[in-house]
Amino acid sequence: MKVVLLKCETYRKPILKATIERGLNLLGYTDIIRRGDRVLLKPNLLAAKPPSAAVTTHPMVVESVAEWVIDHGGKVLIGDSPGGAVKDMENLWTITGMRAVANKVGAELLNLNRYPIKIVDDLHISKICDDVDMIVNLPKLKTHSLTGMTMAVKNLFGLVPGLYKSHLHRVYPDPISFTKMLLRLYRLIPSNISVLDGILGMEGNGPSAGEPKAFGILGMADDALAMDFAIAKLARVSGRAFPEIKVAPTPSYELMSEVTTLSIRMPQTRVVNLILPTVLRYIYSLLFSYRPVITNRCRTCGVCADSCPVNAISGPPYTIDYRKCILCTCCYEVCPYGAIKIKRSVFRI
Ligand code: SF4
Ligand code: SF4
Repeated sequence: MKVVLLKCETYRKPILKATIERGLNLLGYTDIIRRGDRVLLKPNLLAAKPPSAAVTTHPMVVESVAEWVIDHGGKVLIGDSPGGAVKDMENLWTITGMRAVANKVGAELLNLNRYPIKIVDDLHISKICDDVDMIVNLPKLKTHSLTGMTMAVKNLFGLVPGLYKSHLHRVYPDPISFTKMLLRLYRLIPSNISVLDGILGMEGNGPSAGEPKAFGILGMADDALAMDFAIAKLARVSGRAFPEIKVAPTPSYELMSEVTTLSIRMPQTRVVNLILPTVLRYIYSLLFSYRPVITNRCRTCGVCADSCPVNAISGPPYTIDYRKCILCTCCYEVCPYGAIKIKRSVFRI
């Protein structure tokens, strides 16, 4: 396994494309694509947000990788299954810049919420994984309120169709069991290449309501787990803050990096885990809790209610039934207007 971490501080095309090509060459990917291969690009398209919000993979990264595939003779498809965008996929393609990329390079856009599935154990996985010759994973470097960070392994969750993602949040509600489920997915999905967009990422209360931060990193790897371990090590993130590196066996990989430091502020929900030992954390959890709160910025679109795995949200006006809520933070992730905040409540709900 190999991981390449290169400095890149701009989305300007010539520099970005040259950096991506340099990284892929360092991985040894000079002739991995055969003429006519169908290649799925899988960006992080969590919500209908513009590139400046740093919620989604930047369209210039997608465009540069698409052109690399086309230059090598491949045919490009761009697909994801955003949980909160099921109602208006066309709006999401436009706002995230994917429609413009697809028009420019002649790629097909795929709403994976509408694509056939296959069932492996208790997991529903998009059949697109079998219908293409290669998957190029295009994650965004961000923090995540449930899993600590979201990078290459977590981005594969987008190959589970929309509403079934909510079901998995209900079945695997805590960070450890959810992460174990993600690792099962990672083992089942053959993503040959990961290109991580860490040029402008997100810290704090990610994956959608944190603060954009210029990390200036482009990561490339032939293995998604190795990519995540390399970034976590660079950022000195612990297994308590990012359960993936605690739960997964440490992969053996060769690292080529021109980046020496990475500073990232973790989400509020994970900071408690970092600073308190297990017993104190248990006592703390009895007294305090974090919970999603719908604020007066709510525009009554109903996306959160559609995404809630336990039907804890009803409206309009939209409210949360905290007796049902399993604190999966899906509603917080998908609200297109940033109207849901994670707030600390004194005494457990
Ligand atoms: S909180 Fe309001 S604006 Fe946000 S997803 Fe729910 S209904 Fe839509
Ligand atoms: S209300 Fe929000 S955090 Fe609670 S279960 Fe529903 S989606 Fe998850």
